[in-house]
Amino acid sequence: MRLMHVRQLRGLLAVRSWPVWSLPRPALAVVLVVDVAAGTALLTSSVFDGYGNARDLAVFVAFCASALFCLEIARRLDEPTGAHLDLMTVWTLPIALLLPSPFALLAAVPDNAWSQWRGRPSLLYRRIFTVAAIGLAHFAGGQAFRAMAGVHPPGDEWGNHAAALLAAAMIAGCCCAAINAVLIAAAIQLSNPTTSWRALLGDREMLTIYGVEVSTGVTMTALVAQSPVLILPALPAIILLHRSLLHRQLTAAARTDAKTGLLNAAAWQRELERELDRAMRKRTPIAVMLMDLDRFKSVNDTHGHLVGDEVLVSIADVLRAELRNHDLIGRFGGEEFVATFDADLEQATEIAERIRRCIATHPFVTDRMADGVGVAVTASIGVTVLEADRRAGADELLAAADASLYAAKTAGRNRVHIAPLAGPIRTASEPGRFRRAAASVGSAARSEHQRLSPAPERPAIVEQD
Ligand code: GH3
Ligand code: MG
Ligand code: MG
Repeated sequence: MRLMHVRQLRGLLAVRSWPVWSLPRPALAVVLVVDVAAGTALLTSSVFDGYGNARDLAVFVAFCASALFCLEIARRLDEPTGAHLDLMTVWTLPIALLLPSPFALLAAVPDNAWSQWRGRPSLLYRRIFTVAAIGLAHFAGGQAFRAMAGVHPPGDEWGNHAAALLAAAMIAGCCCAAINAVLIAAAIQLSNPTTSWRALLGDREMLTIYGVEVSTGVTMTALVAQSPVLILPALPAIILLHRSLLHRQLTAAARTDAKTGLLNAAAWQRELERELDRAMRKRTPIAVMLMDLDRFKSVNDTHGHLVGDEVLVSIADVLRAELRNHDLIGRFGGEEFVATFDADLEQATEIAERIRRCIATHPFVTDRMADGVGVAVTASIGVTVLEADRRAGADELLAAADASLYAAKTAGRNRVHIAPLAGPIRTASEPGRFRRAAASVGSAARSEHQRLSPAPERPAIVEQD
């Protein structure tokens, strides 16, 4: 144990070997500017604003203690589920709005120190940057609030001018969340330019969570402005809020394949039904693609399962890159992937061939491979297309794509086999949904010999190298 501490201390003293220097220049610049700006703001605000009186210090301690209490409960709730959700803004925002400004810059220190020690340890420069970015965002939010509310520190005014103060607090809270998100996203994007801004700044789900955090933080501010003791009855509500938001995250996770982040088989099949319904209603053609990696067992046997897993993740990336955002992509199981997209026979052939070529021509390189040469992987792809005027059930489409895939495999692998699904022609008066009792599609991990019986019509086109 002591040896570990000595090693850590030596690592800290060896300034030249700090991991921060390995960042790309622009990312390093952002990290240093934010760290120095936060340090300077802390120094100047400590000198000019000071830390207030003993009550302010006691309120700060109460907020930090509540934050750590909730963080620990969240850690226990999240850990078994693999989710991660902390609602720290609920505690840090009132610190920024109610207490003298140096506290805003220190608001994220206790919870980050706690997370580093109890939760997920991170590289020290990342922790410091996180604390600095949150500190600066809260400092700016606090200044904006004071400028709008014209009070310092707010007290009785919450009773008399509650509406105006709440509005000012909401605006300041939103500024705070936005500055924080942009600073952190900028550092990550500049460190790794392949990360999309969209992914970093959050989807609708993430924005909802930000909104809930800010409005709860504002409510907490109003409560504590009346009396800090009101933190205590609010604590169970915050824990309950965490649970309910966690439920939403878990619902999203239940639809996702953990390894690749694509839809899992069950969710994909459910979505396929919806897409098929929509396509038939709007009378547009729809394609279903089933892809199986060739001789993937030998990739595992040669390079190990961990490399195999990384290849699967890269294949998912290829599919995401080659298909459009709104196309449905899923992992059907094992090394089988599925996708559905709006396309006629010609377009679907082009898309599937592009994916096949992309996989076949790019060796997948991972850090785990000693030689750095990369793994050559190919895929067999079966596609079926339901033309605009035809009708069919989701199971029939899947069975037809499966039969196409079987044909691609038996024709020699690394090829696309595509066939239209000749369902009955739709009449103008027919309702959108058409379901027929079809043989249910079995587990994706089944062996080739157990593949489903051929599609209703023999494949018409065989695309080869
Ligand atoms: P082919 O499809 O061309 O007939 O040959 P294959 O070797 O891919 O055949 P099969 O479908 O029988 O085997 C699939 C292999 O995929 C078995 C297993 O080693 C591997 N596999 C399935 N799921 C995973 C996974 O999640 N991770 C890794 N690393 N390998 C997996
Ligand atoms: Mg397979
Ligand atoms: Mg295979």
